[in-house]
Amino acid sequence: MEVDCENCAGCCVDWRPLADVPEHERRGPQRPLDDTYNLVPLTREDVRGFLDAGLADALTPRLWEASDGPSVEIDGHEVAAIAGKPAFFVGIRKLPKPVAPFDADASWLPTCAFLDPETLQCRVHDSDVYPEECAEYPGHNLALDVDTECERVERDVGGDRLLDGEPPDEQSSLLFGPQAVGEKVFAYPDPDDLADGTPGSGSDREHGGRVASTGVLERLAEGALTAEDRARFVAVTAASAPGTTAVEPNKREQAYETALDADSWVGAAAREWAERAGSDDPDPGLGGAVEEARGAPPTPGWGALDS
Ligand code: SF4
Ligand code: SF4
Repeated sequence: MEVDCENCAGCCVDWRPLADVPEHERRGPQRPLDDTYNLVPLTREDVRGFLDAGLADALTPRLWEASDGPSVEIDGHEVAAIAGKPAFFVGIRKLPKPVAPFDADASWLPTCAFLDPETLQCRVHDSDVYPEECAEYPGHNLALDVDTECERVERDVGGDRLLDGEPPDEQSSLLFGPQAVGEKVFAYPDPDDLADGTPGSGSDREHGGRVASTGVLERLAEGALTAEDRARFVAVTAASAPGTTAVEPNKREQAYETALDADSWVGAAAREWAERAGSDDPDPGLGGAVEEARGAPPTPGWGALDS
């Protein structure tokens, strides 16, 4: 299912540096510990699809600091929790890329790992791993009568972005509250593994994890998660089941190894983008050399779609 969309890429790029955008994600009783803008919440099946496709290195978790509601204390943070276990979802990494959304001058902006920086089209749009949330955006927001990214772009940048304000007739379940557990929101079974300087716990050792000098939450807040950190959350997600916080240990173990072995074009491009962002001019045409030369699917360009 597709919704009307002006294809401005506002929901795929962190365009906050281009406009004075009011913060919409970090308010209320649960605030993300990371600073990513519009992290796409993936379903368990989306995550398994990325894992099977060798793209687990494109994924990253989100956890929340809770000022109200159930939580568990880790390294001085009250982390939102389900049944005493840290709650999280898994989304797609945003990487610094040279992009020029809304006809602005090109600049280095945090951008979805799958967005072609030159065409601003999604590299996985027609593939098996195209996330459900992206396929239906902004349908869920319209159904819930909450602000959409399209309207934020209209307010702060201009143009007509939301071409149809009616929620689509057909879309997947909204997955909120208890229904979301094991489908879109997951529970990390070993809170102590996430703490600062915790020696490798049983779980760490059996997963081949290394002992970190700082905790996962600190790295998450600094945007400095390691491949091992990200693989832990991908593995728990892949081994989760609907309606429960239980995690199947064998599936978790296998998923962890698969996630850690992932060495896709996304991971390699992420390293090069990080190096270039600190020194190079922001040229959107670099996507060919940095991503497509490593196997990223090309995008058709708007001319091809118009004709
Ligand atoms: S997967 Fe594609 S549509 Fe979804 S946020 Fe990334 S670039 Fe945008
Ligand atoms: S912000 Fe809205 S109009 Fe722009 S690409 Fe996303 S869904 Fe489409």
